[in-house]
Amino acid sequence: MRTYINDSDFAYLNSEMSGLLAYYETRNSELFKSDSSSKMAFRILCERLTTDTTNPEQSRRLLHEVLDCIPNRTPCNHICCPVCRTKRQQAAVKRTKLLFQNATNENSFFLTALMPMTPYLSEANSSIIRLRKSLRHNLRTYQKENANHSFNVYGAFEYDLKTRSEYRVSSDRAKQLFQELGYDANTSEPMWLPHLHAIVSPLDDSQRKHIKDIIQSSIFPDKHIKYSIELKSFRSDKDVSENLSELSKYMWKVRLQHSDNIFATKEGTSKAKYKSMFPSEAVTSLSSYVKSKGSFKSLKFEVKGNQ
Ligand SMILES: [Zn+2]
Repeated sequence: MRTYINDSDFAYLNSEMSGLLAYYETRNSELFKSDSSSKMAFRILCERLTTDTTNPEQSRRLLHEVLDCIPNRTPCNHICCPVCRTKRQQAAVKRTKLLFQNATNENSFFLTALMPMTPYLSEANSSIIRLRKSLRHNLRTYQKENANHSFNVYGAFEYDLKTRSEYRVSSDRAKQLFQELGYDANTSEPMWLPHLHAIVSPLDDSQRKHIKDIIQSSIFPDKHIKYSIELKSFRSDKDVSENLSELSKYMWKVRLQHSDNIFATKEGTSKAKYKSMFPSEAVTSLSSYVKSKGSFKSLKFEVKGNQ
């Protein structure tokens, strides 16, 4: 599957769409000039949606909604729109700088919490709604009982898609994790893997352990799944404000591409290589579904500490 669309291929797609694709690129040229991966994400989205033969009407409708997007006047609010996504990321950077003013690399952590897998978006969404409620409740209870342990949590839920071919090439450890999360190795259908990324700060070592346990038991009250929750230290080779910016953007990338590894890589989150995009039916169903639930705000997670 392609991960790059050059200018001549783009010109072809553009002519098929009566010039509307290039018009979107021109309108957003400032963003695309400074962010080439957004530009490529847009082009790949265009290719996916214009060449979809399974459900062409649905794909064309989504593409037109994105192409009509005027961010400051009539934003399309689709998670697949590079301009709306960038605006969301910029807002997230602002929010984290405000929430984590006293953060240091030593007292701040990046959470990735994997949730049960399911073939159905509605089921993944229900478990996100349930987890948001129970996790907020459990973290607030912990903060009330430990009044001197105030911390903030800010992040976003994401829906990853796992296919049989990805499962097959996984390591034994990853295969086991997939299965414990509910992956059905006998199905040819891809499955959704909802998960939460968040910045948590400030925490000391003992709180870090408690918070990890609270998250684990909020997601899986009856069983312990090894490797399903990661609460990682910030990168020490970057200053804390750089870490906050990069992680904020990473949390709001709203993944529409396959990933090798669900956890942020040590080599850096923002420079992650662009992987192949989900199949068009997954892109259209996920985009339309998330928009029907309130778009980006349906993905947000925030818990403020005692002030
Ligand atoms: Zn948009």
